[in-house]
Amino acid sequence: MKLLGNKVAFVSGASRGIGSGIVLGLAKQGASIAFTYRSSSAEAEAIEKELQSYGVKAKAFQLDAANYEQTEKIIQQVIADFGSLDIIVNNAGITKDNLLMRMTEEAWDEVMQTNLKSVFNVVKASQRQLLKQRSGSIINISSVVGDSGNAGQANYAASKAGMNGFTKSVAKELGSRGIRCNAIAPGFIETEMTQGLSKEQKEMWLANIPLKRGGTPEDIANLVVFIASDMSSYITGQVINVCGGMQT
Ligand code: NAP
Repeated sequence: MKLLGNKVAFVSGASRGIGSGIVLGLAKQGASIAFTYRSSSAEAEAIEKELQSYGVKAKAFQLDAANYEQTEKIIQQVIADFGSLDIIVNNAGITKDNLLMRMTEEAWDEVMQTNLKSVFNVVKASQRQLLKQRSGSIINISSVVGDSGNAGQANYAASKAGMNGFTKSVAKELGSRGIRCNAIAPGFIETEMTQGLSKEQKEMWLANIPLKRGGTPEDIANLVVFIASDMSSYITGQVINVCGGMQT
């Protein structure tokens, strides 16, 4: 029996990397999938087809996650097309790394808008539907640096720390209505986001990982499936690390 049959999932930023791993994991467990991308339309189309090959309904939407009005329209469209909204995964995110000395105001704003405001946008626009259903699992893809901080990532770490605070607040606010909200904090995951790191930076990350490998999108997707499912029905308000033991 599939874990997520009859459930509808909305996942942001699933044209590649961790997001594409997440939608595949959810589809394999029978969930219908609405997902977004910003500019990778060919990749999104290919993923849409791959998801449909698992026998589930799947549709890609172009969206700038930082834009509230666009987000509200797409969430309404998803509810109209799919009939409900059971799982929300806020995954879209970017980095604009630099030491604070060299960090521009634009780099600060862009990261906060894409990584943090986007989460407010989606949850705010979906809240009425979740309250009506009296159920839902919201999963925010954070980062271990939201807790630890990281030199060169003041904007990114602040956006993820903000996400963790938002997650815990929403869990407290909506728990009595059957709505859960958790964050998953990946460590070093091999995607385009981490491809840009220098050899030295990668070696430094790997040296601090007890399991001695970078993570895969599937490592994150496996926990998303569990948190999305009713098997985790007593878990809310948590930030759960998936980092090969790097952060202990
Ligand atoms: P990635 O490979 O760079 O993929 C990012 C995804 O987000 C893409 O689908 C991209 O769409 C989408 N996106 C970016 N900006 C967007 C916007 N304004 N509106 C809508 N979609 C947007 O990144 P990743 O490594 O998979 O990371 C996914 C999430 O995991 C992020 O939140 C990241 O912070 C978090 N994370 C990653 C790592 C890691 O080591 N990789 C570690 C900790 C946390 P397009 O393809 O159309 O641009």
